[in-house]
Amino acid sequence: MPVYRAPLEDMRFVIHELLEVEKQRDLPQFEDLTADLIDDVLANAGKFCEEVLQPLNQSGDEEGCTFENGVVRTPKGFKEAYKAYCDAGWGGLAAPVPYGGSGLPLFITMAVNEMGQAANQAFAMYPGLTAAAYSAVMFTGNDWMRDKVLPKMVSGEWAGTMCLTEPGCGTDLRLMKTKAVEQPDGTYRMTGTKIFISGGDQDLTDNIIHMVIAKIPDENGQIFDDLSTVNFFMVPKFLVKEDGSMGARNGVATGGIEKKMGIKGSATCVLNFDDAIAYRLGPKPVPKKPGEKRSGSAGMSGMFGMMNAARLGVGIQGIAIGEVAYQNALAYTQERRVGHALTGPAEPDKPADLMIVHPDVRRMLLHCKSFVEGARAVAMWTMINMQVMRSNRPEAEEAGLISDLLTPVIKAFFTDMGFESANMAMQCYGGHGYIRDNGVEQFVRDGRINQTYEGANGVQAMDLVGRKLGRKGGVAPMALFKTINTWLTENEGDEKLQPFVKPVKRGLDTMQQATMWFAQHGPANPNDAGAGAVDYLRMMGIVTVGWMWARMAKIAQAKLAAGDSNKVFYQNKLVCAQYWMERMIPECSMLFERIQAGSGALMAFQAAG
Ligand SMILES: Cc1cc2nc3c(=O)[nH]c(=O)nc-3n(C[C@H](O)[C@H](O)[C@H](O)COP(=O)(O)OP(=O)(O)OC[C@H]3O[C@@H](n4cnc5c(N)ncnc54)[C@H](O)[C@@H]3O)c2cc1C
Repeated sequence: MPVYRAPLEDMRFVIHELLEVEKQRDLPQFEDLTADLIDDVLANAGKFCEEVLQPLNQSGDEEGCTFENGVVRTPKGFKEAYKAYCDAGWGGLAAPVPYGGSGLPLFITMAVNEMGQAANQAFAMYPGLTAAAYSAVMFTGNDWMRDKVLPKMVSGEWAGTMCLTEPGCGTDLRLMKTKAVEQPDGTYRMTGTKIFISGGDQDLTDNIIHMVIAKIPDENGQIFDDLSTVNFFMVPKFLVKEDGSMGARNGVATGGIEKKMGIKGSATCVLNFDDAIAYRLGPKPVPKKPGEKRSGSAGMSGMFGMMNAARLGVGIQGIAIGEVAYQNALAYTQERRVGHALTGPAEPDKPADLMIVHPDVRRMLLHCKSFVEGARAVAMWTMINMQVMRSNRPEAEEAGLISDLLTPVIKAFFTDMGFESANMAMQCYGGHGYIRDNGVEQFVRDGRINQTYEGANGVQAMDLVGRKLGRKGGVAPMALFKTINTWLTENEGDEKLQPFVKPVKRGLDTMQQATMWFAQHGPANPNDAGAGAVDYLRMMGIVTVGWMWARMAKIAQAKLAAGDSNKVFYQNKLVCAQYWMERMIPECSMLFERIQAGSGALMAFQAAG
């Protein structure tokens, strides 16, 4: 049976020692934070994930969701676990207190989410998407929605979804067909089909509040193949009466659920909107003049806010799947005996040594561990930057630019690495990893979708290279380079730290050269930019995680020099940092070589041949 232990020690290290959150009282929501409060929340959430969510992970995968007579049912135990999750208030951690939340900063929500996703990704998606949906109601809804709908979503009594994808479009939302027609009373009537909607229907909550994007037709009833009239709507499964109670069933019907490779406990639904009553969340669109071309609409900004939050949430799923897969592989390699150590038997009285003596097994374990812990540090730093962005600090603007730049990196690099880690963990099990009862193959199947939904990883790379790199003369990458460079300069005189400072500097130099390469070649041949985008995103992930490892190595060196009693923890931090410098940073030069190859071979390929 697979196991999961909440990585509380590492989370505490990142929060208290690396990011020193107790010294950041000036940030919004940090005023009353104490180390004890943070540690208590994390310990209680960890216990809940270990004891309630993880035991349902394998059984939920075996049973999956069902759809009969128009009713979706989640696996046995999910309903009770969901109630316990809501009763404990885990769903509303970051929501403001007046709406029934706990008002805690994002980095705490991130840690709790990570533990939930690691324990049971399929389950955690229900409250995860509800949180993304209630943030949208909070930021874009009107007073009635905030008073009557939001508190019920924060408490988890009602769930939420994000409905973007249609049969004819996922990435290219310009092609969407769902329409919302304005009514004299200011509401809209929505018609169309959305597919692949996570939690689109379920038996956990009485009501579901769908966040839907749809096009508003022009006065002739026409919609266009562009984004000019796209808007963002709230569509409840059951209408909400003036007093906030549930009213009649709205025109939203579940057409079915998908049979999937993984996350089988998460119901992935087809939703048919048939004259459903919808409430517009974005500003009213300005009618398009004949022949006018528009690249977007003001109504989409709320949707982008929700999608960015969801993209970061999916990146955290990458860390989570890597963590749980690593934990199980580590345990297995310390139990199973295979062969002997290359330098001679480690335990001569036994027929074979433990598998963990082999360098290649250690390579696989360290690949997972150094990714998970480095990525967790980058993600938490980003969550804090998102709060610095809303503060009065002089670096607020820079923090916002860096968070925005790193959002696609966190989504794509962390989910690629999470999948790589799950796959390596499965390899550690040999053939037993392929056998369902052992549970590790589930991590590979569950973790695979993270690379695709919420924008395929290749599309994230295009967002980074095509939009974020060059915007306003490249201010965002320059802000990241400056932040890393400042730290490197401050630490270049520290002799003991050179094994970490020098490789990060090499990686950063390569990344700066690659950025210049895109600036010079991208405008002339956009295919060259498209061809190298995935490699560039990976490079930015490797360098940013590498910088975090250098910072963590500095702390570990100081702790060990001071004789800290937690010796193995800090020694392993240095080992992981060394792994990243020796085995991941060198990828940067290979990636740059590949970027410089441009798009020649790719575009010369003839699909008909
Ligand atoms: C289990 C599951 C849960 C989901 N949950 C939700 C949900 O809750 N809500 C929701 O709205 N959707 C959801 N989705 C849909 C998901 O977000 C889409 O499947 C995804 O965005 C890709 O869209 P698509 O499938 O239409 O692929 P397409 O848009 O057809 O793209 C196919 C592939 O082409 C490539 N590609 C496309 N465009 C580009 C480009 N411009 N540059 C480079 N490469 C490109 C990518 O490799 C991509 O993977 C879910 C999907 C699944 C499978």
